[in-house]
Amino acid sequence: MIPRAFEYFDPATLEEAVDLLERYGEDARLMAGGQSLLPMMKLRVLSPAQVVDLWRVPDLDYIRQDGGVIRIGAMTTHYALNGSPLIRETLPALADAAGVVGDPLVRNLGTIGGSAAHAAHNADYPSVLVALGAEFRALGPNGPRTVPAGDFFMDMFTTALEPTEIVTEISMPVQGATNRSAYRKLSRRGTDFAIVGVAAVLTESEEGRCAGARVVLSGVGSVPVRAVEAEEVLKAGPLDADRLREAGEAAKRNLDPPSDVQADAQYRIDVSGVYVGRTVMAAWERRH
Ligand SMILES: Cc1cc2nc3c(=O)[nH]c(=O)nc-3n(C[C@H](O)[C@H](O)[C@H](O)COP(=O)(O)OP(=O)(O)OC[C@H]3O[C@@H](n4cnc5c(N)ncnc54)[C@H](O)[C@@H]3O)c2cc1C
Repeated sequence: MIPRAFEYFDPATLEEAVDLLERYGEDARLMAGGQSLLPMMKLRVLSPAQVVDLWRVPDLDYIRQDGGVIRIGAMTTHYALNGSPLIRETLPALADAAGVVGDPLVRNLGTIGGSAAHAAHNADYPSVLVALGAEFRALGPNGPRTVPAGDFFMDMFTTALEPTEIVTEISMPVQGATNRSAYRKLSRRGTDFAIVGVAAVLTESEEGRCAGARVVLSGVGSVPVRAVEAEEVLKAGPLDADRLREAGEAAKRNLDPPSDVQADAQYRIDVSGVYVGRTVMAAWERRH
């Protein structure tokens, strides 16, 4: 279908973009790569009266290390993240997720800021960003503010952002030599959203045990779901096959996933257990 008519703006600065959002309020929508916005406009699920395109705004496309923090500009594409040696080295779960978003076209145009702001429950980044302890930097009419990833995702397609705010940067602590991370997802076809996605960030103790674990699932709730019971199981002893199975079973408890055309709720619960085990093992086998 063809989108309803809209007014198009391509501001040259962030301040200009914020002014436009303030002027037009909830009638306006930001556009990053258009990879979620345009399909929704074509289907007329969304029909903004004004589209504010960020492509001309400078300094939103970067990946850099700043001491113990990795900083990523909101307009950084999935392709750039997946190919970045710094991200592969320090935050491999993020590189994993960036590499399995959609197809090459989507990865070349879609951005981490757009994906996070879109907040699809079955998208690949949200669980990874929560597991990695990311923070969102947003700019609005009242200036900049920072929102932790755990507070950012509020519901399906709903974030803590005000309609007048723009995500400018996503940052997260560098994972040190004792940390390993991975992201794995199950989807029907390569280009599909996750039926279930699992992000795991593990910390190894000096004795070679799992001393810390953050395990977060996508696709099984309206927001990323942290598998706290599974994390406790992983820390309780050596990571052998029995413990991985036990962690998978723990992750399945209390899940209340949706049923849709991709998979029913029980299937999502069953594969969650399997994917928690696989992802934890993939993370554990990684060494810096
Ligand atoms: C065929 C196809 C397959 C896909 N498969 C997957 C998949 O497997 N996994 C997955 O995770 N995703 C998938 N996607 C979605 C993809 O990840 C998009 O890249 C992502 O949703 C965001 O796209 P974008 O950066 O182009 O943002 P846009 O589509 O331009 O914007 C998305 C939303 O975010 C808002 N927005 C954009 N930038 C900002 C910002 N800086 N600050 C505040 N709000 C902002 C917009 O107003 C809009 O509401 C797929 C998309 C397509 C078309």
